[in-house]
Amino acid sequence: MSEQTVTMTLDEVRILARDCLAANRCDDDNARAVAATVTAAERDGAASHGLFRIPGYVASLRSGKVNGAAKPVIERLAPSVVRADGDRGFAPLTLDEGRGPLIDCARSQGVGALALINIHHFAALWIEVEALAQRGLVAFAFTAYKPALAPAGSTQPLFGTNPMAFGWPRGDKPPMVFDQASAAMARGEIMIAARDGHTLPAGVGVDNEGNPTTDPNAVLEGGAILPFGGYKGSAIAMMVELLAAGLIGQDFSFEAALNDNNDGGPPRGGELMIAIDPAHFGDPEGWLAHTEAFFERYNSMEGTRLPADRRYANRVRNTKDGVNVRTDLRDKLVELTNSPAI
Ligand code: NDP
Repeated sequence: MSEQTVTMTLDEVRILARDCLAANRCDDDNARAVAATVTAAERDGAASHGLFRIPGYVASLRSGKVNGAAKPVIERLAPSVVRADGDRGFAPLTLDEGRGPLIDCARSQGVGALALINIHHFAALWIEVEALAQRGLVAFAFTAYKPALAPAGSTQPLFGTNPMAFGWPRGDKPPMVFDQASAAMARGEIMIAARDGHTLPAGVGVDNEGNPTTDPNAVLEGGAILPFGGYKGSAIAMMVELLAAGLIGQDFSFEAALNDNNDGGPPRGGELMIAIDPAHFGDPEGWLAHTEAFFERYNSMEGTRLPADRRYANRVRNTKDGVNVRTDLRDKLVELTNSPAI
């Protein structure tokens, strides 16, 4: 398989993504918001959520599953709870429009929650918590997907790969952010391994008969991914289902699959975000210096690095040098742009 790549600036990435979406039933606002999310992923070296996702976004626009002209509706349900109805659109525009009201809730009440409903989420979560942590808030995000992950003790998929992300503000330093799927390996990474003809590490998945396998195709075609850390990752995946579906009246992963047309794009579902303003808790003057001293101690230990440091290093390099994109992927996106949906 060809591994040829082409170097693109981040502006070229953003314009290619935006034009491809706009040529396929996405209005300006939605195309811009999704393109910004995809570009941020490429910028930070998260290729599995970068341009690689555009064919899936386009498939969902072309099939009519996703509303490319979605107009999110924001509603305050309680002093600290906001609901953002995504109008069957992709998540990024709804996230953009829900962020301000969520920040207002957290600043006025100490804690705010944003329930995103009727969205199609196909992105990494770190983008979302980082945006809040950059504004001085502690942030959590949770979303479910379609069944891919077998609960501990089973070999049948029930949970989505169910990521959760956490962001911690660090004053004038970039926030500490972790963002992890509940799976031993994110599905996007398994898809990339299948595309590139690589095997998986042991312990990532089982085939359709429940046997352990390192073949990514066997995991993707009727098999299941295993949770990270056995029953502990399984419990986190369950928590994500409960928060991102049960709590906010959206589909559990298994329900999302029943309602999905399997066009290759993301199913309809929900997301929960929580924001906390440290100024309202017990140490409004001292929390930042106290936690910075903690990070200093952490960083002084041999072998450690903070979550997100890899992305931040990629960000500096890729902003300057551009990113390497597979030539066949770039060509496919150009073709999708030039043969638009009718
Ligand atoms: P990884 O296992 O690659 O990384 C998980 C976290 O651990 C990251 O924050 C990473 O930081 C951090 N980390 C990795 N190595 C170290 C280390 N040595 N020391 C300290 N921290 C470390 O991510 P996943 O494969 O679990 O998830 C991939 C992505 O897929 C996520 O962004 C997730 O949101 C997304 N996803 C989206 C779904 C959706 O439905 N929208 C579904 C499932 C996943 P760093 O980035 O700096 O390496």
